[in-house]
Amino acid sequence: MTRRHEGRSDAPPLRDALVAFDPVRTGDEMHAWVSRLFPLCRSITGDGLRESLRQLGELAPVTLTEVPSGTNVFDWKVPLEWNVRKAFVADATGRRVIDLERSSLHVVGYSIPVRRRMTLEELRPHLHSIPSHPEWIPYRTSYYEESWGFCLSQSTLDAMTPGDYDVVIDSTLAPGSMTLGECVLPGETGDEVLVSAHSCHPSLANDNLSAMVVAAFLARTLGQVRRRFTYRFLFAPGTIGAIAWLALNPGPRRGVRAGLSVSCLGDAEPLTYHRTRQGDSELDRIAEVVLQRRPGGCRVLDFAPYGDERQFCSPGIDMPVGVLTRSGHGASEKQHTSADDLGLVLPSCLSDSLLAALEAVHALEANALVSSLGPGCEPQLGRRGVYRDLAMRPSKRLLESALPWLMSLGDGKHSLVDIARRSSIPFAVVEEAARVLEGQALLRLDEISAARSGAASVGGVQ
Ligand code: ZN
Repeated sequence: MTRRHEGRSDAPPLRDALVAFDPVRTGDEMHAWVSRLFPLCRSITGDGLRESLRQLGELAPVTLTEVPSGTNVFDWKVPLEWNVRKAFVADATGRRVIDLERSSLHVVGYSIPVRRRMTLEELRPHLHSIPSHPEWIPYRTSYYEESWGFCLSQSTLDAMTPGDYDVVIDSTLAPGSMTLGECVLPGETGDEVLVSAHSCHPSLANDNLSAMVVAAFLARTLGQVRRRFTYRFLFAPGTIGAIAWLALNPGPRRGVRAGLSVSCLGDAEPLTYHRTRQGDSELDRIAEVVLQRRPGGCRVLDFAPYGDERQFCSPGIDMPVGVLTRSGHGASEKQHTSADDLGLVLPSCLSDSLLAALEAVHALEANALVSSLGPGCEPQLGRRGVYRDLAMRPSKRLLESALPWLMSLGDGKHSLVDIARRSSIPFAVVEEAARVLEGQALLRLDEISAARSGAASVGGVQ
């Protein structure tokens, strides 16, 4: 069994996990998890969501919280719990033309129960297809309007002949609860880093099983290393789940100094970071100097309020939450269709996404304010053995180039990330050079306060 260190100082550093990272093995393992969770019929409430979160608990300590139906959360109300056992349309011979057993996309999410015989013409307004992609099944929901329907491929619809059909949706919409999954990994400080993955989509592999699995693997990895910060992973239904968590957790949300909303992390599109609403939080700067320059690259784009960052970054909450994604919201016509299948998610892209998230976390953990302790002007580094210390290191020349930057910008106002950004020297090199100078008592590295990192202006709506 994996040992958890609870952020203790005797746990190995995250750097060790980065060095030992095996992208092939990890990517295969993650893809197996996406495949395992794929068939479950998830929605914003119900047993499919609950079971998915329970299974993620095998990777990391995920705690389930049940929020009762009818609970008021800001301007919203937690809906009735929806569960579906059977849903099919059978023709006059009894052949099931559409059957939930074949894909959880076939029934419109939150369909009310139905048991009727009807003609094709009566049934047609309840059938949804994509004429431009005749083999794809769309994904539809009707959370907040009482309705029912089926989703099917255009080719299946075209093959349906006039006549009577038996229509069955064996579902329940009843008072119950909405399940939120949370995994908290305590760190040495109470400052929190939030990672959120919406978890309400049924059999769609990229949106958002890929990101649920990346987040769970990130939690598993961080659970085994030394942590400065406390990490809080939230697996919740899109929109209503994030809103409910924010409404019910005014305390924890104030401590969040950085956050990532993760989605669509398994496809082959370039890794993409969307800035926080503030646009210049510590995490935004890390994205520029760490993610953008990593070997796999990463596009860094402006804030775009499409996913749960809309809630976390809303003016009344004001958390510094960025988005890590690949194809992102609305960028692929395969999104919210059956073409978002297990073939769209690649093991190599899953592991690349996880590694990028780990690198961002590493920079967040390692970042510090730099203060030169030189006696005035630049200290004589040679006399103090700094060059001798660097001589045996592989990136000696780059390390040497970082020294004047650290001494020049070490005014107590610039961080290691700021210095990497202004010098265009890789963050890891700046950090290593700073540790050498720190070892020679030539500079001091101080923690960055949560407020400075861009954390919520503490307060927000109650
Ligand atoms: Zn979606």
